Amino acid sequence: MFGKDKTLWGEKTPLKSNYDAVIIGGGLHGLATAYFLARDHGMKNVAVIEKRYIGFGGAGRNTAIVRANQRTQENIPLYKEALDLWPVLTKELDYNLMFFNCGNLNLMHSEAAMSAARMNVASAQFHGVESHLIDAKECKELVPALNIADNITYPIFGAMFHPPGGILRHDAVVWGIAKGAAKHGIHIHQQTEAAGIGVDHGKIVSVDTDRGKIYTPRVLLSAGGYSASLAFKMLGLRLPISVLTIQAMVTQPLKPLLNHVVSSGTYHAYANQTLKGEIATGAHMDPWPNYTTQNTAHYIKHQAEALSEFLPCLRGVKFMRIWGGLADMTPDMAPIMEGNDPIKGFYLDCGWGYFGFKSSAAVGKYMAQFMATANCPEILKPFTRRRYQEHRLMGETAALVNYSPDN
Ligand SMILES: Cc1cc2nc3c(=O)[nH]c(=O)nc-3n(C[C@H](O)[C@H](O)[C@H](O)COP(=O)(O)OP(=O)(O)OC[C@H]3O[C@@H](n4cnc5c(N)ncnc54)[C@H](O)[C@@H]3O)c2cc1C
Repeated sequence: MFGKDKTLWGEKTPLKSNYDAVIIGGGLHGLATAYFLARDHGMKNVAVIEKRYIGFGGAGRNTAIVRANQRTQENIPLYKEALDLWPVLTKELDYNLMFFNCGNLNLMHSEAAMSAARMNVASAQFHGVESHLIDAKECKELVPALNIADNITYPIFGAMFHPPGGILRHDAVVWGIAKGAAKHGIHIHQQTEAAGIGVDHGKIVSVDTDRGKIYTPRVLLSAGGYSASLAFKMLGLRLPISVLTIQAMVTQPLKPLLNHVVSSGTYHAYANQTLKGEIATGAHMDPWPNYTTQNTAHYIKHQAEALSEFLPCLRGVKFMRIWGGLADMTPDMAPIMEGNDPIKGFYLDCGWGYFGFKSSAAVGKYMAQFMATANCPEILKPFTRRRYQEHRLMGETAALVNYSPDN
């Protein structure tokens, strides 16, 4: 279908020996940064190098949930901007990213969780993000399939309702942004693995790949679950990141029954219905660090038990597909973004855990600004590793796992 010189997003390009910037990782963070480097800063002599194929990492494995109701004041504005960018990018890229603005319902299962959610809602509203606290009856009106009986393990007290959130199609986002970047002249090199980074007198000078050396003054490491091991192997940098597997599944297609994303930190499970009718579900993470993308019976059992309590109409429904990907988890579940410290020209964007899809568009925009100007944009300043030394952890854990008795 595509000749040997063509890809889904444009012509294949030769690997040059010099680029103004090299981006390691063809996930969404790498591709979006490349796109904005060209679009906003006229930097077109840029290579994205990807060891397998674009979207091989979390970018092509996630369940594509987007929302802006994070927990902390540093994080909410970034996610809000990312959420607002999806419809803009759909037009600008002339590519249907399949944004389905169905809204998110984040269930609460105790009075304490409702009180904490009140603070989350207030923070979101303060930053102009639409978010409301609703009671169990209102949850049932929005999602009639929900079980609001009080004889389940964790009865539903209410929810944070976030109408602007929703889902996209992850492959479409990867291909759409890659196409946009390629159109601006960015070179995307698949099957090209970064093996080393050259530093001279504290400055970036090159990247070694399995296809040859590339000379460059700027490198962005955005290799998702592989970032921490690469940073250590290539530069001796130790990042506070543990790598775990996130798994996801879809059921057989069903008639429409779930028109919002429903998540529960306490059950540690979320579900939404795809445009094909499948129920996509995930969240539970086996707690042992590993670099595999294997699936576990423990995970399947957890998801099945959780869903059959709060969405009992799913009992007996068949799971059709299951997969896994790597999650790079930091101690506060907030990412690490920084540059020129300690090596001039070296930039880092990693530690996204569960949140790297929803943030990717805005992060690409700001990382591009950072790389093009060498000045860190205000919005990114709180995200350096120094926050761990300075005891300024962000507390984004609770954006996902609201007061689960297991956490
Ligand atoms: C099952 C699952 C569900 C998820 N659901 C959601 C969700 O609903 N919403 C959300 O916001 N997030 C979700 N996430 C998280 C999200 O997918 C990630 O945070 C995000 O993809 C990270 O993007 P990235 O660009 O940093 O890394 P990735 O997309 O992982 O890309 C990194 C790339 O680097 C490449 N690479 C690695 N080493 C090298 C090397 N040496 N040289 C060249 N290339 C290299 C890899 O092959 C990979 O393609 C989910 C993740 C999983 C696994």
